[in-house]
Amino acid sequence: MALKSIFDSGALRTELEKAGIKTSFIPIIWKYVIQNPNCEFDEIPSLPSAIYPLLQSKFKTCTSTVDTVLESNDNVTTKLLVKLKNGAFVEAVIMRYDSRLGICGGKPRPGGVRATLCVSSQVGCKMACTFCATGSMGFKNNLSSGEIVEQLVHASRICEIRNIVFMGMGEPMNNYTSLVEAVRSMIGYPFLISPRRITISTVGIIPCIKKLHDDLPSVNLAVSLHAPDQKTRCEIMPTASKFSLEQLMEALRVFQQKSQQKIFIEYIMLNGKNDSEEQAHDLAKLLEKFQVVINLIPFNPIGSLSTHSTSTDQGVVKFQQILRGTYNIRTTIRKQMGQDIMGACGQLVVSIPGKGSPEGSSSVPDIEDLIRV
Ligand code: SF4
Repeated sequence: MALKSIFDSGALRTELEKAGIKTSFIPIIWKYVIQNPNCEFDEIPSLPSAIYPLLQSKFKTCTSTVDTVLESNDNVTTKLLVKLKNGAFVEAVIMRYDSRLGICGGKPRPGGVRATLCVSSQVGCKMACTFCATGSMGFKNNLSSGEIVEQLVHASRICEIRNIVFMGMGEPMNNYTSLVEAVRSMIGYPFLISPRRITISTVGIIPCIKKLHDDLPSVNLAVSLHAPDQKTRCEIMPTASKFSLEQLMEALRVFQQKSQQKIFIEYIMLNGKNDSEEQAHDLAKLLEKFQVVINLIPFNPIGSLSTHSTSTDQGVVKFQQILRGTYNIRTTIRKQMGQDIMGACGQLVVSIPGKGSPEGSSSVPDIEDLIRV
């Protein structure tokens, strides 16, 4: 039987309960394993004796390994290429943002360097968004909750992680059970990531949006909208045809009513497709009854497979001006980070320097839809 990740909280909890051992030992085990990457289970002090053979026979301290660490020239982005136990690869990206560089009330913001980790939830993705190289890989498999949490474990050994965004490879809501289990682990001891600093990004899987707040209170929701009308939206994201825009907006209304949280709207800027002034007005009218932050994402070309091109800088700024100036909607333009290591928005598809593509799927550079700070 294949050994499971010790960070698969559901499996670990089940085994401990079956053996009549308190699950309150789980945080102690995790803390020791995080602090001692190469440890054996029998080195963990102060556990009941019955726990050691159980851990050794069913679990591993880490089922994934960091194959490659790539540092960006911008000194803010680090990409981890993570090898899973089945031999597949996913990517996790650390972005460090110095909050003191921002301006708040005319003065530099308080704080310091804050790190955000972008995690993957699937190998590949079945959603096939036309701007996304992960989508071009097709779907390979879901990650277990332990494999998701292990990305945080690996990243935490590089720097302290403050924020988590589920914007790496895969549609997290298509792996909902593992997503919920992983987030609950990240919120708990010893990780203690505030749920308000965790953001789940989705193309709009309505049944999951409806239950997200009940399952994970205070966690943020980001929605890849990308167009103010259903026809254009479906051209950019073919799977959006499954749910009408009206159904999506109603699900967002209910989410916001229950959570009282602002919703992040992701909008990739595609030249001549969704970036006209008229579309900016339509987008604002669609969202005017919501509390949202719109994040305009300059498109990263992903090679010959891409049928899209990047909006002009002036076009992006004009779009932002309409949303902000005319409708007073908070709108940011995502800063590009880590393009040289394919860690920027829309660039997460696994590539191993000097090894070609382990998925054998494409010569396309990596991609996925990345972060806000
Ligand atoms: S943007 Fe996200 S949901 Fe769409 S294909 Fe890429 S990974 Fe999947």
